[in-house]
Amino acid sequence: MIKGFCVLCYNKPMKRELMEILACPVCKGDLELTVGEENEEEIVAGSLYCPKCQVHYPIKETIPNLLPPDQQGQSGV
Ligand SMILES: [Zn+2]
Repeated sequence: MIKGFCVLCYNKPMKRELMEILACPVCKGDLELTVGEENEEEIVAGSLYCPKCQVHYPIKETIPNLLPPDQQGQSGV
């Protein structure tokens, strides 16, 4: 499996297995998972951090928001 920008991962519940395929949308580097809250299967709340870009991508209600920082807050994708 190719590790990198994964469009299919968007709007999917965040699971620990997804760390294998998720990468920073900007630099394609590895992300660090910080768990705020999780259930048996999914990360409910937390964040993904890219140490290279020094950007946090929030996970809210199991959905990781992996939009690049300059695209966050925009609507109508
Ligand atoms: Zn990055």
